[in-house]
Amino acid sequence: MQTIGVLTSGGDAPGMNAAIRAVVRMGIYRGLKVVGIRKGYSGLLAGDFVDMDLGSVADIIHRGGTILQTARCEAFKTEEGQRHAVEKLTARGIEGVVVIGGDGSFRGAVELAKRGIATVGVPGTIDNDIAGTDTTIGFDTAVNTVIEAVDKIRDTATSHERTFLVEVMGRRAGDIALSAGLACGAETILIPEEEYSIDEIVERLERSFKRGKRHSILVVAEGVGSAMAIADKIRERIGWEMRVTVLGHIQRGGSPTAADRVLASRMGAMAVELLLQGHSAKMVGIQNRRLVAIDMEDAVARPHRPDLGLFDLARILAI
Ligand code: ADP
Repeated sequence: MQTIGVLTSGGDAPGMNAAIRAVVRMGIYRGLKVVGIRKGYSGLLAGDFVDMDLGSVADIIHRGGTILQTARCEAFKTEEGQRHAVEKLTARGIEGVVVIGGDGSFRGAVELAKRGIATVGVPGTIDNDIAGTDTTIGFDTAVNTVIEAVDKIRDTATSHERTFLVEVMGRRAGDIALSAGLACGAETILIPEEEYSIDEIVERLERSFKRGKRHSILVVAEGVGSAMAIADKIRERIGWEMRVTVLGHIQRGGSPTAADRVLASRMGAMAVELLLQGHSAKMVGIQNRRLVAIDMEDAVARPHRPDLGLFDLARILAI
């Protein structure tokens, strides 16, 4: 293998730049030519390629977002699109591609692999919703962003004796809500993986009110439903004021944490090694602090399960 490509696809995540840097630098260190593919699969179809050198990834390890930019691309989902993508890669002499993204991006990478382009996936998504890896690049940063915001909200909640419901990202996975909720001492955490009952939430709020607590923080993953509607239902029952904060896209940005930079550097470098060893349709994962190469098709087929032990622990500690 002489030339590899690297792209970022799907939703951006802090640490993607650190992963690009690792792919480029490890690739060059191993004597490869590295081509950056801009804007994910849409840039691939458009032939939006840029030769990468050591300097192209200087000064990016600490930056959020992705210098290669990212996109979603419907045309790539079709057979014709995938054939066209292979033609573009072959014309440029690209034999292997590192795909940094989420499970949708990996489904695309599996298709490329079936058509003879070696692909390795690096999980980059704040949601942590990929099976086969304990954590994904960007998750730790997003959790820390939520913690910083909720700590500030708690100051007001305490001063004004108010109950706040904070909606965090996680359409399909409750991982951000779980980790951030536990770390913030949230009184209640709602995640898509667990049923909730308004009765129980109200009971918990009333119980803590009785022991003199006049403020509470509830953390809700967006996949549970509309935070406003949930707040309305609780408000109707408890009869006291309740504020809703939707954190939104601030959770996707920002400088990556140390954990994300280290993870991205390790995973990006490993992806290059896997391509050089002749692997394809593999995803780099981390399990019990060790990097692993797992079957990409298997990873996207399996459902991700969050650590529900955190859910139980948070409930006990917020008694
Ligand atoms: P993420 O990678 O963050 O999960 P998406 O699900 O939006 O984000 O996927 C990113 C891109 O990957 C899509 O816009 C599309 O180009 C490609 N993709 C997603 N699913 C498939 C699929 N089943 N087959 C081929 N390409 C896919």
